[in-house]
Amino acid sequence: MTKFSDLKLHAKVLKAIDEAGYTEPTPIQAGAIPPALEGRDVLGIAQTGTGKTASFTLPMITLLNRGRARARMPRSLVLAPTRELAAQVAENFDIYAKYTKLTKALLIGGVSFKEQDLLIDRGVDVLIATPGRLLDHFERGKLILSDVKVMVVDEADRMLDMGFIPDIERIFQITPFTRQTLFFSATMAPEIECITNTFLSNPERIEVARQATASETITQEVYEIPGAGRETSKKKRDFLRHLIDAEGEAVTNGIIFCNRKVDVDIVAKSLKKHGHDAEPIHGDLDQSYRTRTLEGFRDGKLRFLVASDVAARGLDIPNVSHVFNFDVPSHSEDYVHRIGRTGRAGRTGKAMMISTPKDDKLLKGIEDLIKAAIPRGETNMPAPEPKAEKPEAKPKRSRSRSKKDETPQKVAEAKVDTKPVETIEEKPKQSRGGRGGRNARDNDRGPKVVGLGDHLPDFIAHSFDERRAG
Ligand code: AMP
Repeated sequence: MTKFSDLKLHAKVLKAIDEAGYTEPTPIQAGAIPPALEGRDVLGIAQTGTGKTASFTLPMITLLNRGRARARMPRSLVLAPTRELAAQVAENFDIYAKYTKLTKALLIGGVSFKEQDLLIDRGVDVLIATPGRLLDHFERGKLILSDVKVMVVDEADRMLDMGFIPDIERIFQITPFTRQTLFFSATMAPEIECITNTFLSNPERIEVARQATASETITQEVYEIPGAGRETSKKKRDFLRHLIDAEGEAVTNGIIFCNRKVDVDIVAKSLKKHGHDAEPIHGDLDQSYRTRTLEGFRDGKLRFLVASDVAARGLDIPNVSHVFNFDVPSHSEDYVHRIGRTGRAGRTGKAMMISTPKDDKLLKGIEDLIKAAIPRGETNMPAPEPKAEKPEAKPKRSRSRSKKDETPQKVAEAKVDTKPVETIEEKPKQSRGGRGGRNARDNDRGPKVVGLGDHLPDFIAHSFDERRAG
């Protein structure tokens, strides 16, 4: 079996890995690190949770350890599809590069250009960015990419889903032809194959088995509750609270997944109203709010994170005791991703899903994918509490939402969220093929920052090891 010490990583990197508690490289690390250190292009087919971030960060740190960056001329680039993922790469970099003098900057939307300009001006070894923000800086003439020696594209399949492919192509074109490319994707759609054929030079291809089954440490249950039409959403919220209450103290913390952002807001609001500690996270929310929410959840200060798939996928959040699927996911693979947030690293976890008759087909699709029947849970609830949610009597309709997918109570409760429902972070799959890239970039710039303003939260700027130690 390969050991980290066999991989020719710099001693300072080995020391940091040792402190992080890693004993041996994961398969993607064992496969990708040696060719990366030889200067070869790498095509890694792996998804989150396989240790792929370290598989490109560790060789990068080793390769860049000699030399220094000049002002405005980063020596390496890491492109990630969402701000959270970019921030997560930055945290990983801080952990693994702690014994080196390498510098990094994180360029993401929702943070002021001024602050980012200052960092770039000082000269950075590693620039971690979302594609839109990177191009914005480049087009403003603030960034010179002619010194980029290593470029990483992380989660390329997500880039494709989000319409970022034209931006990625452009970034490939404005970086030196001689750069080394480390390219990661969970799947190889034809569009991605096309990019890798065009821009990668004889890459070493490493494929890590795709996760098609859930970890055995996760107990799964599905609750098939009756219901159709207007009252379904309320029934589901009642039932969700019933599940949470029935689990009692076993729920140390949990992620509640909804299919639509509007429901993320409604469910979070409803839980709060009933005395639960819950916050929403999805692509339409202000960046500083998202960052604070995640930080609180990771620190154990927030008990429930109500999330959409895109906001939560790929986030490394250890120790989640429960995953609640408020909705049956529309894509079967999302079920595996969602429940994979619990039962990590051999710990036990519980995944509970609420299903209604209209979800039967989706449920069957999931069971076909995981090749197992999900045990049915007891759906009898105690008599409703007297202080049930206020009946949402006023069927008020918003002009911007379709009649089909909005029950009156959803509209009434969704009033707080006046932002458009669609953002690039949750762009529908039809955007494949790259159209809408411009839109994607606009959204990537993020909403105007309020609240924390230009403050860069510590969790983005500093290492995470103290928190991880807990
Ligand atoms: P990633 O796939 O990069 O999101 O990594 C998933 C998780 O695995 C992160 O929490 C890493 O800290 C952790 N990890 C990465 N490499 C190793 C390793 N060799 N041994 C143990 N944990 C690791």
